[in-house]
Amino acid sequence: MVTETFSPEETFALGVRIGKEALPGSIYTLSGDLGVGKTVFTQGVAKGLGIDEPVSSPTFTIVQIYEEGRLPFYHFDVYRIGDVSEMDEIGYEDCFYGQGVCMIEWAELVEEILPEHYTKILIEKDVEKGFDYRRITIEQV
Ligand code: ADP
Ligand code: MG
Repeated sequence: MVTETFSPEETFALGVRIGKEALPGSIYTLSGDLGVGKTVFTQGVAKGLGIDEPVSSPTFTIVQIYEEGRLPFYHFDVYRIGDVSEMDEIGYEDCFYGQGVCMIEWAELVEEILPEHYTKILIEKDVEKGFDYRRITIEQV
């Protein structure tokens, strides 16, 4: 599924929809360049799950856990990870294989530990279509 957005609000709204539909145990990966909108999208998903506290990128902790929504929400940003073993140290398996929803920014950096099936989200810019244009591709793998 490809969705085009033309503002941060539209990307947020798409995230809200995903958050509302998310099932227990869902894993979403997010790929795309720095500043493309991965965190904006994630903030929408959190909203859709009923999380009202502010969500920002957990860059220095790798994962931020939100328990107040309809389902537990595990927001990973693995941009600064040095080695995949750091994922073991933070106990990622409890998140990946639990009853919550995982969102993993920069998932390609931890590809080897991703489960067999998940929902892959790619956000891309296209400068020819404007500064705020984003193409968001969502596929099941
Ligand atoms: P990332 O997490 O991918 O590094 P962020 O979500 O933190 O990126 O930042 C995305 C930036 O791009 C924000 O400043 C946001 O306002 C801006 N932006 C402009 N247009 C869009 C759009 N269509 N969708 C999402 N963000 C957009
Ligand atoms: Mg981010």
